[in-house]
Amino acid sequence: MSGNVLRSAFIALSHNRPLRRFSENSRIGRRMSGRFIAGTSVPEALQAAEALNRENISVSLDSLGENVYTEQEARKSAQIYHELLDAIAQRGLRANVSLKLTQMGMDIDPDLAPRITTEVVDHAAATDNFVRIDMEGTPYTQATVDMTRAIHNSPGCAGHVGTVMQAYLYRCEEDIRTLLADGIRIRLCKGAYQEPPSLAFPAKNDVDANYIKLMKILLTSGVYHGMATHDEAIIHATKRFVEEQRIDKKSFEFQMLYGVRRDLQHSLVKEGYNMRVYIPFGTEWYPYFMRRLAERPANVLFVAKNILR
Ligand SMILES: Cc1cc2nc3c(=O)[nH]c(=O)nc-3n(C[C@H](O)[C@H](O)[C@H](O)COP(=O)(O)OP(=O)(O)OC[C@H]3O[C@@H](n4cnc5c(N)ncnc54)[C@H](O)[C@@H]3O)c2cc1C
Repeated sequence: MSGNVLRSAFIALSHNRPLRRFSENSRIGRRMSGRFIAGTSVPEALQAAEALNRENISVSLDSLGENVYTEQEARKSAQIYHELLDAIAQRGLRANVSLKLTQMGMDIDPDLAPRITTEVVDHAAATDNFVRIDMEGTPYTQATVDMTRAIHNSPGCAGHVGTVMQAYLYRCEEDIRTLLADGIRIRLCKGAYQEPPSLAFPAKNDVDANYIKLMKILLTSGVYHGMATHDEAIIHATKRFVEEQRIDKKSFEFQMLYGVRRDLQHSLVKEGYNMRVYIPFGTEWYPYFMRRLAERPANVLFVAKNILR
């Protein structure tokens, strides 16, 4: 089976409700996901953050969850972020937070997600911290760009909120230029959702070439951005560009996912680059986990070995 077919199969499975219910509620499911998810509770996530901070790695804490359907659920999701921001400040962690707008009620009422998210960003501003708004599938791209700009431009919030751009989308460069005009911090990634060829480059080579082109725009923009990738060729191209252009190594950060390429995380830190690891945690880990399997089907073997061990 080709990589693309497997990728599509795992992304389709990420929407499968019965499998999700079974996985999230079973001990075997929790064991399977343990490589990529730092536990189900806030204390476990904070413990993972402390361990990475000791290795000179910053983190972004993500309380897993997407597509909530009631205001009460959205407020409950936001409450965890308020708790995290307080805990980060109290413990002096090198950590910020990442959230999804569908988790803040974007599907329920167009005014709800901006209201709830602005409250979280206000809290981040009050504790000198930062909220990253993750990017979801293309039905949400425009709304995410618009909401990030609206929040960034509201009083006291500038610099305390940023979002994510996906290099697989044709529209990515234009969105980047719009966000940069406001001085908004961007995390650049390839993109993790299943998108049609009318919206996204179907071939990996084209996605990679676009990533490198966009990386160059970001690193010469004068704003602090995150290069989120485990792709060694792209990391190499980034390092070469930084050297050629004499860009300060500390003027941006590399970002990677919890449990992925820990060797590379450490070697970049040793070379003097800023590194941030995205730490997902919580009980609603299933869609996130399936997207990680989609990116690298070899992970299925790893997970299977873990269960049999
Ligand atoms: C910090 C961070 C935040 C992200 N936020 C978002 C977001 O908001 N929205 C979004 O759509 N996507 C997000 N992503 C996911 C991203 O879009 C890609 O799907 C993912 O990073 C894989 O792409 P890659 O750049 O690592 O390159 P790939 O070409 O997919 O992988 C390159 C190499 O990296 C390693 N690798 C990659 N993924 C895995 C894995 N799951 N397990 C083990 N090894 C792996 C393998 O060695 C692989 O050969 C994020 C990624 C990171 C690192």
